[in-house]
Amino acid sequence: MNETKGLIFNIQRFSVHDGPGIRTVVFEKGCPLRCLWCANPESQIGKPQLAWTESKCIGCKSCINSDLKCNPHFNDEGLYWDEFNPDETDDIERICPSKALHVIGYETTVCDVITQINKDEIFYGDEEGGLTISGGEPLMQPKFTYQLLKEAKKHGISTAIETTGYGDTGDFIKIAGKLEYILMDIKTLDDSVHKRVTGVSNEVILNNFESIRKAYPNLPMHVRTPVIPRVNDTEDSIKSISEFLRCRKNVRYELLKYHRLGEPKYISLHRTYPMKEVELSDEVFELLKKYEFNNIS
Ligand code: SF4
Ligand code: SF4
Repeated sequence: MNETKGLIFNIQRFSVHDGPGIRTVVFEKGCPLRCLWCANPESQIGKPQLAWTESKCIGCKSCINSDLKCNPHFNDEGLYWDEFNPDETDDIERICPSKALHVIGYETTVCDVITQINKDEIFYGDEEGGLTISGGEPLMQPKFTYQLLKEAKKHGISTAIETTGYGDTGDFIKIAGKLEYILMDIKTLDDSVHKRVTGVSNEVILNNFESIRKAYPNLPMHVRTPVIPRVNDTEDSIKSISEFLRCRKNVRYELLKYHRLGEPKYISLHRTYPMKEVELSDEVFELLKKYEFNNIS
């Protein structure tokens, strides 16, 4: 029984976009980056947090008539609250009948997650599918991430992570030793642009990329660049990343088109979406896609 604890906010079953085959994706909570376009803002803070979805609220007022210490109250813009203590999670789930008011993030153990994943094993196929640990950033919880991967491998489950690459190099190398596939973002090669749009330096990420290549040259790495207007949506930007990667074995390079599907989540968290009114045209994206390649054998 591996009781190592971690903070996650979702387990998504039957995913076909997070590594080879059909996968179960465990989303860890906490990310050191603050990408302006982040589609999962609920993943960023490394502790449970409260959110309110207006479209689900039936106006029953159970929350404001309760004795919750976070003191939910309505104002002109919707439901607000004071500081939230995760100890009130069960009370909130009991009080709000429609789940409009809900807690994002919960502590779990490796053992509990493996029990969940084992239910999906039948769908993974002979080789391809398996577990992908995503986030947030899995390198933010290195002990939990490592133990979860180790336990999954013991159960014969194929393993992958989706990472920003931003974390301690030693942790990343240790974790990569338990992986069969890595999905990693490289957003730009320009450090000043990276700092401006994510809040952190790119150097750590690029150095970690090189360290993993050196330690595990045969480990497939699927590098992705989210193409973001006014950040990296030029041929020069994308071509430079593609050329940086192209000479390497076992690397696939893919572009992801900017979208605004995460915008409603910002409203639920009482945050302002930072990239309002920005669009990426299909024409620009199609033009840039010629820089994709796949060297994974
Ligand atoms: S790295 Fe991913 S989860 Fe973290 S802020 Fe950026 S888009 Fe969001
Ligand atoms: S308890 Fe839930 S549904 Fe009722 S008013 Fe509060 S948020 Fe809305």
